[in-house]
Amino acid sequence: MSAVGVAMHGLVTELYPICRSITGNGVRQTLEILRRRLPLQVHEVPSGTAVFDWTVPREWNIRDAYVKAADGRRVIDFRASNLHVLNYSVPVRARMTLAELKPHLFTRPDLPDVIPYKTSYYKEAWGFCLRHRDLEELGEGEYDVLIDASLEAGSLTYGEYYLPGESDDEVLLSCHVCHPSLANDNLSAVAVAVSLAQALASRPSRRYSYRILFIPGTIGSITWLARNEDSVSRVKHGLVLAGLGAGEGFAYKKSRRGDAPIDRAVQHVLAHVKQPFAIASFSPYGYDERQFCSPGFNLPVGCLMRTPHGQYREYHTSADDPGFVAPAALAESLETCLRVVDVLERDERYLNLSPKCEPQLGRRGLYRTLGGEMDAAGREMAMLWVLNQSDGGPTLLDIAERAGLPFHAIAAAAETLTSHGLLKPVTDLA
Ligand code: ZN
Repeated sequence: MSAVGVAMHGLVTELYPICRSITGNGVRQTLEILRRRLPLQVHEVPSGTAVFDWTVPREWNIRDAYVKAADGRRVIDFRASNLHVLNYSVPVRARMTLAELKPHLFTRPDLPDVIPYKTSYYKEAWGFCLRHRDLEELGEGEYDVLIDASLEAGSLTYGEYYLPGESDDEVLLSCHVCHPSLANDNLSAVAVAVSLAQALASRPSRRYSYRILFIPGTIGSITWLARNEDSVSRVKHGLVLAGLGAGEGFAYKKSRRGDAPIDRAVQHVLAHVKQPFAIASFSPYGYDERQFCSPGFNLPVGCLMRTPHGQYREYHTSADDPGFVAPAALAESLETCLRVVDVLERDERYLNLSPKCEPQLGRRGLYRTLGGEMDAAGREMAMLWVLNQSDGGPTLLDIAERAGLPFHAIAAAAETLTSHGLLKPVTDLA
């Protein structure tokens, strides 16, 4: 099992118990844990701040919540799972009958053994979520109800990690830090984003600068866009990362543009991942690509997932726990993200410096002798394609697609040929 997959799963498990929401101490605590791995900047935006058509809400914090039966037993207990409380519930302390309580209880009759996850961010409400099976056990009689929460002026918190590259042009990556105890949605993406940032930071150089956002859903991206309106034109490519820790294969939702280089890069990489994958056109429903791709911004930002939101049984329930997330799936997701980044970083035009007939590869030790390595034939094929096509016209991605070979094989061939003096990046010729 890959060490990085295990490390990412460890982070998911560490963050899982924290009760997060779109504001509050759960987000701060989460970002504090991430700061041990990544020197990210934490921003606080005061409640009441106008962000386009929205307003940063009051800050929500919760200490305890329960429904107690007459015998004093907690029949619903926030301490057992933070999903038990309707996220963003206003405070309540009351005694009531089951009939009075019932309109505030939410279950999934179709999945009687899970606690559903529900929120009420923008409409004042209170409630509890519980297993349908447990609801059926509740007897008539009176219940003590407590939600020891506060909803008051404070701030919205988000994390931002900026990694400079040779160019000010940016690659924007974003993920959610607003879900409470849910693992695949979206701690998996948080873990992949952290490992991706660490991998990028460890490289000696980068063509692009990278900006990685750890933000609450919807209001976080709206807030970030409102505060960075003047500089978003630097974003040349972007990905919203979500649900990357469980399920077979990948799903990619294209940017609103539909033909942005990021759309092409992801589709190319997924076509060579040797796993099932689905490509969807942009739609104005889903994660924060909705805001990044709103018509006033129309940024080239797509969304990379494994099984899309809402399309797996565990989605938004207590069954989406760390056991549902697999280290191997996390590692594959990271690998896929890195392959996409490599396309963005390394796609350029080259010129064959020995264009009259094929150069003699054997003389340079580039051609298989006897019983070469397993993938030697593929490597040679990649070199032949790069040499043949590199007349300053097609880029490496163009060549990879024409050859039906993965970009990384074509890029590796270009690197080998360049080091042997047979190839030069077009930009170096100026
Ligand atoms: Zn969600």
